[in-house]
Amino acid sequence: MNNEIQASITQLSEQLENYNYQYYVLDEPSVPDAEYDRVFQQLLKLEEVSPGHPLANSPTQKVGGLALSKFEQVTHQKPMLSLDNVFEAQALKDFMKRAQDKSSTANIAFCIEPKLDGLAASIIYENGLLIQAATRGDGQTGENVTENVKTIKNLPLKLRGENIPPLLEVRGEVFMLKAGFDKLNKKLSDAGEKPFVNPRNAAAGSLRQLDSKVAASRPLGFYCYAVGVFEGELANSQFERIEQLKGWGLPVSEEVKQVTGEQACLDYYQAIGEKRPDLAYEIDGVVYKVDNIALQETLGFVARAPRWATAFKFPAEEAVTIIENVEFQVGRTGAITPVAKLKPVFVGGVTVSNATLHNKDEIKRLGILIGDEVVVRRAGDVIPQVARVLLDKRDLQKTQPIVFPDVCPVCESRVERIEGEATIRCTGGLYCGAQRKEAIKHFASRKALDIDGLGNKLVELLVEHNLIASPAQLFDLTTEQLSSLPRMGAVSAKKLINSLQISKKTTLARFLYSLGIREVGEATANNLANHYQTIEAVKVASVENLQAVSDVGEIVAKHIYYFFRQEHNIEVVNQLLEAGIHWPEIKKVAESELSLTGQIFVITGSFNVMSRSDIKTALQDLGAKVAGSVSKKTTTVIAGEAAGSKLTKAQELGIEIMDEETLLNLLNKI
Ligand code: NAD
Repeated sequence: MNNEIQASITQLSEQLENYNYQYYVLDEPSVPDAEYDRVFQQLLKLEEVSPGHPLANSPTQKVGGLALSKFEQVTHQKPMLSLDNVFEAQALKDFMKRAQDKSSTANIAFCIEPKLDGLAASIIYENGLLIQAATRGDGQTGENVTENVKTIKNLPLKLRGENIPPLLEVRGEVFMLKAGFDKLNKKLSDAGEKPFVNPRNAAAGSLRQLDSKVAASRPLGFYCYAVGVFEGELANSQFERIEQLKGWGLPVSEEVKQVTGEQACLDYYQAIGEKRPDLAYEIDGVVYKVDNIALQETLGFVARAPRWATAFKFPAEEAVTIIENVEFQVGRTGAITPVAKLKPVFVGGVTVSNATLHNKDEIKRLGILIGDEVVVRRAGDVIPQVARVLLDKRDLQKTQPIVFPDVCPVCESRVERIEGEATIRCTGGLYCGAQRKEAIKHFASRKALDIDGLGNKLVELLVEHNLIASPAQLFDLTTEQLSSLPRMGAVSAKKLINSLQISKKTTLARFLYSLGIREVGEATANNLANHYQTIEAVKVASVENLQAVSDVGEIVAKHIYYFFRQEHNIEVVNQLLEAGIHWPEIKKVAESELSLTGQIFVITGSFNVMSRSDIKTALQDLGAKVAGSVSKKTTTVIAGEAAGSKLTKAQELGIEIMDEETLLNLLNKI
């Protein structure tokens, strides 16, 4: 045999032995399962073409695993095997055909079961009482984990029902519930301990504990999927045996089905794949078993797996790749997100070349460098994540740290990181190309400049057609430009130009709100307007001074201060004023003298003279709070036409009710 092939066989075998050690002995896999499976398949292929191979001690011939000496050892009366795998529909069909060919019955049945992602255990009941539980170990010898298994909540210590065999060994999977896994990992991290890589390893680590109190505290579950040794009579069908086990009070998966025909087998794979994210436990594929036990016996075994069963795994959710670079993307609200540019890799059924790294804290937690080999995870429709770095594979010559930008990669505005927040943000706001659409949508929205006829879709079109790049440019639009847009007639274009004109007359509060300064909502904008009365005064206010405004704390004050320190923001504000935006002068009312301070209003129904939001602003300007629902605390309900349940409730509670006319009078008087 070719020396090169021989060397590869040795190298791959050693690699698999190492992976096995990390996985089965330490419960801490160093690579994702898909990587293990890839190397395993590679070795299988080489062995197939090499005379004298496979050797009896090859990893392809053994059930991986080892019984740890810290546990008492248990010899299995019947070996506990692994399963063969298929990775595509055709291979499954071939498996089914091979089984069919050994039978004289047409259309043999298969028992289909979810492939639970935990670890195998053997549990022996004598006269209906649980007397021993063991792990699979190397298939011949396992670990005695009886005390730990007894703590698994869904597993009976005593069987119930009729005709219980005097000796019954059930085999099944110990697994960890998904929800419990997340909680457990959080608890471990909080306590400064190492979290588990996945629920399978968490289940294995929890079961292989010397202290059964620890095992008892872990959210473990068990489902039976086979019978080992037994005395007495059992059904001649895998599916019926599972039903029998269920009848004796043993837990089995609800998803087990008995079917015939290729299509039904493939349909099940599809259907359970879709259901997978909603299951309470992890599954990593489907197990197909010849249902007839006599036929199973005819088919027999190969070294490490039965010939009558096979596992069809789902596409791997984890894969190994390299971080080639890290880029920074600016979101529509200015958040700057580091995105890993990956060497394209097939994971979770698609090719992935980007993965979000979220923020600085996450990068620190993962300890990532550019050039690192990493495990990428994509489960269901969830966006791909970098799960962990393969530190053993780090090459210091080829790696470099990730450097965060000081300025926005899109508009070069200053970048800020607010204390207590992990995200960095572009301060460009209205000016930043990445934030343009959102900024203009906000500017035109009802509570801001309230530009009638300028909806979100239209803003997007205007920006995409390069007709506007800032809110100020809205006011330069012409009827011709507008009517050139898809689905925009001359009439609507004219209407929009008209409402743009109307919108120029606004209030200082609305204008401040329209600028989209971070955390400056309607109420803060109102308070700012009342406090400073002019835009010039707001522009020059210091952080300290700003904190004198009611409801403005240090963080908001800083947002406002920095907004007006950006030259291009000032430019946008000036352009807007030059475009003709104006507002009536504000009469200063000392905050303490506001006549509605402390009062809580609720507005309901529709109005003729003022819009609801104008009423709200007017009341807030006078120091009132405006709430959304009526409660005992409500002072007054402003009821317009067709007021409904809020009005009824106010009447029931005996709260003052005011109509539009009375309100207008009141506002005039104040
Ligand atoms: P396996 O997990 O592919 O299949 C056999 C096992 O499936 C059984 O022992 C049983 O525990 C389980 N199973 C779940 N549902 C079942 C059902 N309904 N009926 C029967 N069995 C069911 O094989 P394995 O020998 O346990 O482990 C090999 C696999 O483990 C590899 O393919 C790889 O994915 C993973 N592994 C990974 C690493 C690593 O480093 N990441 C190392 C070793 C093994």
